[in-house]
Amino acid sequence: MSANPTTPRVAVVGGGVAGLVAAMRLARGGVRVTLLEGSPRIGGKLQVSEVAGLPVDEGAEAMLARRPEALELVRELGHGDALVHPGTTSAAILSHGALRPLPSGQVMGVPSDLRALAAAQVLSPTGLARVPLDLVLPETPRGDDVSVADFIGARMGREVVDRLVEPLLGGVYAGRADRLSFESTLPAVAAAARGERSLINAVKEIRAKAPADPGPVFATLNTGLGTLPHLIADAVTGAGGEIRTAATVRELRRTPSGWRLTVGSARDPEALDADAVVIACPAPPAARLLAHEVPAAARELERIETASMAIVTLAYPASAFRRAPRGSGYLVPAVEGRQVKAVTFSSVKWPHLRDRDPGIIVARASIGRIGEEHTLQRSDDELKAAAMTELAVTCGVAELPVESRVTRWGGALPQYDVGHADRVARIRSAVAGQPGLAVAGAAYDGLGVPAVIANARSAAGRILEYLESRGETNDGHAREAEGARP
Ligand SMILES: Cc1cc2nc3c(=O)[nH]c(=O)nc-3n(C[C@H](O)[C@H](O)[C@H](O)COP(=O)(O)OP(=O)(O)OC[C@H]3O[C@@H](n4cnc5c(N)ncnc54)[C@H](O)[C@@H]3O)c2cc1C
Repeated sequence: MSANPTTPRVAVVGGGVAGLVAAMRLARGGVRVTLLEGSPRIGGKLQVSEVAGLPVDEGAEAMLARRPEALELVRELGHGDALVHPGTTSAAILSHGALRPLPSGQVMGVPSDLRALAAAQVLSPTGLARVPLDLVLPETPRGDDVSVADFIGARMGREVVDRLVEPLLGGVYAGRADRLSFESTLPAVAAAARGERSLINAVKEIRAKAPADPGPVFATLNTGLGTLPHLIADAVTGAGGEIRTAATVRELRRTPSGWRLTVGSARDPEALDADAVVIACPAPPAARLLAHEVPAAARELERIETASMAIVTLAYPASAFRRAPRGSGYLVPAVEGRQVKAVTFSSVKWPHLRDRDPGIIVARASIGRIGEEHTLQRSDDELKAAAMTELAVTCGVAELPVESRVTRWGGALPQYDVGHADRVARIRSAVAGQPGLAVAGAAYDGLGVPAVIANARSAAGRILEYLESRGETNDGHAREAEGARP
């Protein structure tokens, strides 16, 4: 397909990593692409800004390196030399007021090595004694899906859920184990547990199958992961695509030949016609956009709840830490009753930050879980105070930070509740019934950056296939233009 006025036009709604990747694939596939981002800046949850002169991410900061999509994308964009890996991935967990190492042998908090679990001292003696019952209990029925807490609690006891699994899942979803889907949030564990009565043995199996030297788990860009959207945007415009910011899409309607989008303010709306549309925005706006033309999908999207959180970034002189931060950070189980749910020692985790200024230690504290929206109604100063208190208690930091930043992420993390996979299947099937429409983004098949890249690519692929089939089988655009002549 060549880029002339008769070339099909595709509108992409949302300029996060999903929309940008979809736009890149479409622009490189030869269609005319217009990406519409509602806010003044592209990137969505990928944003970076300077704190104490260092490029520190405001949202997502690490890409899983054991899935290929994100690293391949960075290399494909010609920036492979900017990829860096964590200096350490050893993390701790707060338990009964003290930091303990995460037990070795666990997968997303689900333990497989009882000796390592005992040595870590994360569980109470009673909680620890409950875990090996998993080896003798009969099979736990689970139907198509079950909550993380119901299944793991039944096999290993509630303490494993509260003190290990929920904090680890909390880092990804800010969600509650009582509601999160076992199948969708722990897919590898859930799959292994289908063929194995004991959960301990299922996790052992996963670990046994892992390659001996799997390489680094995570990667980022030495300029901050928040620079990735700009690299993708360059590829979009380089391939002839158009990117518009401050362009909120308010309505989506079918037309005889495709779609009409209403863009901009209610007072000064603009109509944009497209042959096909990729909706790459979070579930709540996606539901609003689909409400008229695909109500079945909109109803399902409305049911995907989202959690809000804030990231407080604090930069201290290294000398302020009376106890030097060890490891990449730590997780705080909700049962500990603290305001902060996780702390990342960015300067320890990412050597490129430490090397740029060894005299500064940057820490990022996460605050807020699903159902705790009131926490985020507090002022920036109150959130900073909560993070500073946390570091004072765990690391003996008694000074004020040299610089700080509060980033609020309202409704940022979709919750994959029990039945999520079926819900996504229903959304996809309703959307597939509409020619020239696709959805992409974190609401569907994984909210990590590589998973989002993968689903955005396939959404764009489906649109390209649709346009090609229309060109071959229908009076496509070129023929439509010719058809204007008698
Ligand atoms: C604090 C935080 C930390 C995270 N950390 C990590 C991490 O370390 N590693 C990891 O892999 N993942 C992490 N994630 C998850 C990951 O960042 C996201 O799942 C992913 O970036 C989502 O991309 P997206 O394009 O689907 O959505 P978004 O990034 O939300 O982008 C959607 C875009 O759509 C726009 N939009 C919405 N409505 C409209 C409309 N009507 N018209 C036009 N535009 C609209 C929005 O303004 C936004 O820019 C984190 C998320 C958060 C919030």
